[in-house]
Amino acid sequence: MKRLILFGAPGSGKGTMGELIQRDFGYARISTGDILRAEIELGSADGLKARAFMASGGLVPDDLVVELVRKRLLRGDLDGGYVMDGYPRTLAQAVALSAVACSSEKAIFIEVSENEAVDRLLSRLTCRECGAIYNLKNKPPRREGVCDICGGSVARRSDDTAEAVRRRFQVYGERTLPVIDYYDKAGVLVRVDGSGDAARVYDRLKERVA
Ligand code: AMP
Repeated sequence: MKRLILFGAPGSGKGTMGELIQRDFGYARISTGDILRAEIELGSADGLKARAFMASGGLVPDDLVVELVRKRLLRGDLDGGYVMDGYPRTLAQAVALSAVACSSEKAIFIEVSENEAVDRLLSRLTCRECGAIYNLKNKPPRREGVCDICGGSVARRSDDTAEAVRRRFQVYGERTLPVIDYYDKAGVLVRVDGSGDAARVYDRLKERVA
């Protein structure tokens, strides 16, 4: 099965591109952020462990995330291909993922300036039920506070605050950027200009991935 990995700073558009790839390519979408938020909503032991790390903008420990991904990969819906958003974020996670066989792999690095990314995050709204992504400025839900797709409640994410965003960028630079090197060395890295509106970014991405 085919595997696409979406990389990029917070606010680079991984979630939005993941949704479009899921819709167009029929791929399963695996977002570790969504999985972790679902665990928190459930009040599970994993959710309780992850909560404080996420709220502060830090990373959830590798063992917990790797195990959640391992379980997710067993669900049996991956034959048509899958796209990962927000995983791997550390070298240990990348090594764990490399042990999972696939027929082809591309790591897509969505490049965007920090200013543009922060701007997007601070005006982003997210559905608490299905994870759909909106933006106060240019893509609000049709009905205020209600998801167009599932009718769930749409709100700011609790880690889309100026302070948590700063920390997320710092962690991204320290822990996640080195992972890009790992995929570059493996010869599967593709860079995509992530600036501007989502439709344009997606067109550029499709050209590189096809
Ligand atoms: P995201 O929805 O991808 O922006 O992730 C939100 C938060 O969930 C991150 O800031 C981390 O605290 C946590 N998280 C998501 N994916 C991972 C991962 N692969 N490894 C560690 N923490 C993660």
